[in-house]
Amino acid sequence: MHSDALYAHNMVRFTVLASGSKGNSTIVSGGHTRILVDAGLSCRELFRRMRLAGEEPETLDAIIITHEHSDHIHGLAVTARKLGIPVYFTEGTHRAWMRWLAPRRQMTYAQWLEQCRQQAAARQAEIDAAALECESDESDEDDVERPVSAGRQETPEATVTVQAAAVVEQEPSEPAKDPTWLPCVQYFRAGEAFLIGDIAVSPFTIPHDATDPVGFVFQAEGVRMAVATDLGYIPPNVKAQLKGVDLLLLESNHDLEMLRDGPYPWSVKQRVLSRVGHLSNEAAATYLETEYDGQATYVILGHLSESNNLPELARITAERALNGRASLLANRLLLAAQHEPLTPISF
Ligand SMILES: [Zn+2]
Ligand SMILES: [Zn+2]
Repeated sequence: MHSDALYAHNMVRFTVLASGSKGNSTIVSGGHTRILVDAGLSCRELFRRMRLAGEEPETLDAIIITHEHSDHIHGLAVTARKLGIPVYFTEGTHRAWMRWLAPRRQMTYAQWLEQCRQQAAARQAEIDAAALECESDESDEDDVERPVSAGRQETPEATVTVQAAAVVEQEPSEPAKDPTWLPCVQYFRAGEAFLIGDIAVSPFTIPHDATDPVGFVFQAEGVRMAVATDLGYIPPNVKAQLKGVDLLLLESNHDLEMLRDGPYPWSVKQRVLSRVGHLSNEAAATYLETEYDGQATYVILGHLSESNNLPELARITAERALNGRASLLANRLLLAAQHEPLTPISF
């Protein structure tokens, strides 16, 4: 369907599938690599949106997670299993995600890891068998979220690819019964850049009320794309990371007045407003006006609150802050939406 020539013109691409408190997910493509950043919608909905945006779910190479809040990980397990691809987390986020899925787990993390290792030999045979089946399992594309039934317990393993560089492999003997089972887990640390295929990833710490939340700068073929949402304010380390980016996805969560007068209980309002909450339209604008270097071709406002913001309000506040710097060639201002994907941005 796609010619090589077409792909050659679309080597670096950024596709926001969803942005907001009901789910966040973006695809970053560069060279031959495609990464899903967060999986905050159900697998079925993610796949539907990917196809709407002209992205093919089957070509994803990895999933990378910013933090464990459910609007970022809701569809993670099913999507990773369905595609058989590795998931990149910080260790803290992975542990928090596991606690969220299996809060009554009695084992310590170390015990659980040890159990996984002991089962490695037994499961290798299952993986080999499943890998063979995988080649004949192309027919259920539309059935992306079918729960694993008794008759099809092999489904999650059917597309497992064993990653040579796996830091932690986790395949307990009965993955269908373990909600935390993933085909492959890779750890990274904030402040330490690494490669996923052709894409360089620089994770950086963000101030947010999660265990070990991060933002990212992705670089492919000289194009730098930043994801900076879910942050209470913009500290110096984040400002440093956002220098010289070609695309900036920046949080513009709420209008301060709308939040103050809006429907949230006071405790939630305080949380959102705190230094580990969410970035307001006004705070995003202050950054754009006073600190932002104006280098990006695209500035995308994201994670807009549906209760405490209006897209036009966010847009006007940012436009004013960009102060005439927006043009066709630079600082093109876009708004990421909750309910539909943004048209893919190609470099
Ligand atoms: Zn969050
Ligand atoms: Zn969020």
